[in-house]
Amino acid sequence: MSDQFQAYQIGKNDEGQRCVLTQLDDNDLMEGDVTVRVEYTTLNYKDGLALTGRSPIIRKFPLTPGIDFSGTVLESQHADFNAGDQVILNGFGVGEVHSGGYAQKARVSGDWLVPVPDGLDTRRAMAIGTAGYTAMLCVLALEGHGIRPDAGDILVTGAAGGVGSVAVAVLSKLGYRVVASTGRLQESEFLQGLGAAEVIDRATFAEAPRPLGREIWAGAVDVAGGNTLANVLSQIKRAGAVAVCGLAESMNLPTSVAPFILRGIAMYGIDSVMASIPRRKLAWQRLASDLDLQLLDDLSFDLDFADLPQAAADILDGKIRGRAVIKLP
Ligand code: NDP
Repeated sequence: MSDQFQAYQIGKNDEGQRCVLTQLDDNDLMEGDVTVRVEYTTLNYKDGLALTGRSPIIRKFPLTPGIDFSGTVLESQHADFNAGDQVILNGFGVGEVHSGGYAQKARVSGDWLVPVPDGLDTRRAMAIGTAGYTAMLCVLALEGHGIRPDAGDILVTGAAGGVGSVAVAVLSKLGYRVVASTGRLQESEFLQGLGAAEVIDRATFAEAPRPLGREIWAGAVDVAGGNTLANVLSQIKRAGAVAVCGLAESMNLPTSVAPFILRGIAMYGIDSVMASIPRRKLAWQRLASDLDLQLLDDLSFDLDFADLPQAAADILDGKIRGRAVIKLP
């Protein structure tokens, strides 16, 4: 007899998609060579889109959502993993075309897993989650461009959100002077606590962008896209760079080639979903060493598994501060 476990499942009919909390059993697990007891998951912006159906994130029905999880291997036919190993999974289509982390059990390909690095545990791994790991991919891109702390200020947009808050914490710890842009100035104290030297109103970046503005930022991490990113690009100092990872404002980018050809700046696209395993391992190891764990605990909060549908709407409305951690019941 196969074991039953709790899971969210999203189905679709003529009226649209519907998310229910239900009981599944081992026969419902997808194909894969590693079965994991999911211990923690989290809520990312993309999960918000998937659960509410506001964007077509889920592309196979019925499906368990949740683009990331951490847990312990129950069974493995994969050479790199054994029962008892603690693992992290994010991306690779999990929670989009392959059943994801909003279930007590998941069966996946071992090729998608990374071990929980020394210094982190399964809870903290999901306090970081896809958002925090993406923030580290952004930091790696800026470092790879050669931007050092003495180059000047680094701007982080959407700073009070998941990617933004981890980016602020990591960059500050690495010695960069971080300016946090937020639409929630009431979160200034929170952002300063993470290490932001200055907090500015995101309305600064709302106007129609000029091709070139005053050179202000040595580099930037942008989660917003749209007018915000276009304005940021116009303010990047000569030979600086922006790590671009999000579209919280818009998918559009109303800019010109001016900042690229007249100031030699670069824009690095960050794709957390299909990043290579070596890149992932590096990012997770750097998170274990370069993210202050006390700050991580401060910027994360517990969310009940049963409250995920409401929280999904909240994250899209910009009401979630920092990182939500969900312990599987
Ligand atoms: P959150 O919702 O936690 O944070 C997004 C933040 O963006 C909000 O908190 C808000 O910050 C800011 N924001 C919201 N609306 C606007 C707006 N209209 N204009 C400017 N800023 C706005 O989401 P995440 O941090 O999890 O994700 C951020 C973005 O990054 C999303 O677009 C997500 O899809 C993307 N992402 C991409 C990944 C990749 O692989 N490329 C991986 C992970 C995330 P504040 O209140 O401080 O202004």
